[in-house]
Amino acid sequence: MAKIIDGKLISQQIKDEVKDKVAKLSEQGVTVSLAVIQVGNDPASSVYVRNKKKACEYCGIVSLAYELPEETTEDELLALIDELNNRKDCNGILVQLPLPKGIDEEKVLDAISPLKDVDGFHPMNVGALSIGKPGFLSCTPAGVIELIKRSGYSIEGKECVVIGRSNIVGKPMAMLLLRENGTVTVTHSKTADLKAVAKRADILVVAIGKPKMIDASYVKDGAVVIDVGIHRMDNGKLCGDVDYDSVEPVAEAITPVPGGVGPMTIAMLMNNCVTSVDLQK
Ligand code: NAD
Repeated sequence: MAKIIDGKLISQQIKDEVKDKVAKLSEQGVTVSLAVIQVGNDPASSVYVRNKKKACEYCGIVSLAYELPEETTEDELLALIDELNNRKDCNGILVQLPLPKGIDEEKVLDAISPLKDVDGFHPMNVGALSIGKPGFLSCTPAGVIELIKRSGYSIEGKECVVIGRSNIVGKPMAMLLLRENGTVTVTHSKTADLKAVAKRADILVVAIGKPKMIDASYVKDGAVVIDVGIHRMDNGKLCGDVDYDSVEPVAEAITPVPGGVGPMTIAMLMNNCVTSVDLQK
């Protein structure tokens, strides 16, 4: 039976560590704050924003909430970001995606100061990651690294295969595994013989966006399998990109959905808020 990698437990450890660091900064008179901007009232976004505010509260991070109406223009949003970029009492800025039609997401994300880009999406932070300079790490892939390391698995020298090459998961995931001295292969929808490549992996990270696509035929015996995917099935339950029941018997360790990668994203966001204080010094 595979070891279950417990994202709930590990994310709680990280939030507790952040809480301690925030308390120490507070003793030195430093407040950590995060501006969370939501435009419109997409129900899924409202849940994510609520969870982020709750995590801030738990860690002692001040959350500055901006709930803007659906009709907000791109110029109004850019003006708010400009104001927050210049405010000394705001360490991190997060714009909840997706944005309403008519607002250019890339333009908005690029307008956030790289020193306050706690999501780690700004091209400057992506570039910093690829050449090993300090900067914000994209939260979900950074969370995956923590899950692997804190579960006692070393990445150095291992065959790591990432399935998916999106800008927010697959590509930064590959860069982070490389930084940990893994031997990294990135696969995608045009990869010839995905099964053969995936089967080489000691560490397999799956971020495809296709429910239960990866079954045991893609997985080497004894692999560590990390499932980034998250989908709601017709029966209301959540599942990942990995067919858990098929893969669990062959894997050395596996993340469940829910309770694996999901909780790590917010924990790493909280960690990035603390990092922002150092980066802004
Ligand atoms: P995306 O759609 O932007 O990218 C999917 C990638 O998978 C693409 O690079 C594509 O080339 C690749 N792909 C698609 N079909 C494939 C196939 N048949 N074979 C091989 N590769 C294929 O998705 P994303 O934003 O990277 O997200 C991936 C999954 O992770 C989604 O289920 C998403 O909901 C989930 N996600 C979870 C979290 C979290 O916090 N847990 C965060 C971000 C994304």
